Amino acid sequence: MTKVPDDVRLDLGERARYFAELTDVGVPRSALGAPTVATAESTGRARIASAPKPQRPPAAPVLTTEGAELRDLEAVRAWIGDCQRCKLAGGRKTIVFGQGNPQAALMFVGEAPGADEDEQGLAFVGRAGQLLTDIIEKGLKIPRKDVYIANAIKCRPPQNRNPEPDEILSCQPFLEKQIALVRPKVLVGLGKFSAQWLFKSMEPISRLRGRIGDYDGIKVVPTFHPAYLLRNPGAKKDVWEDMKVVRRLLAGDEP
Ligand code: SF4
Repeated sequence: MTKVPDDVRLDLGERARYFAELTDVGVPRSALGAPTVATAESTGRARIASAPKPQRPPAAPVLTTEGAELRDLEAVRAWIGDCQRCKLAGGRKTIVFGQGNPQAALMFVGEAPGADEDEQGLAFVGRAGQLLTDIIEKGLKIPRKDVYIANAIKCRPPQNRNPEPDEILSCQPFLEKQIALVRPKVLVGLGKFSAQWLFKSMEPISRLRGRIGDYDGIKVVPTFHPAYLLRNPGAKKDVWEDMKVVRRLLAGDEP
């Protein structure tokens, strides 16, 4: 198996193989290469802005897998349509596309919709969603409407099981296009799956935390999922530390 160079962004197939490994199917870790990371400590002392301003890199053309140009998020949603690309379509009530500011400087990536999200068609509603709102609005002092929030998988897996490799292969292009169009300055990976996918790493979230990753030139900060915090409130202090890193990055304090 050929080792993927560190400086080469994983393409669709490679990300699918990577995500397959996350779900314990298939791909040798040696094929994936190491993630590009810098420690949070390397950012040094930071100037924290009270009102982070969007500073987005120039956008490149964003294309569907069929080669059609996607000009905005509405075009991505239209491309998804009444998606039947994987078997999760049969059990969902709604496709949970994501919502928020399409030009957000800060984007949160969760894992997959739960029951509340499937019911309402919105990402991060219910108790975990309220906690995420508190993190954004009380912790970061940013209105939730000013960030963008999406999940890696757009339809609820049955009994909230982990997504399977074929589902990931089918769905991940949508998240990739969302990220490419929003072009946030900072991506926050919520929970193990999102953090590992964004970092291209198999390390547990407990070891990814405290690092700053790179996703196609966008800073990545991993942290615990709000649902985990509901079960383990003692971890909130760790999330606060992560949000302080987010604020520094939004303020332009690059590592
Ligand atoms: S999970 Fe993604 S690929 Fe599967 S049916 Fe839903 S939108 Fe389509």
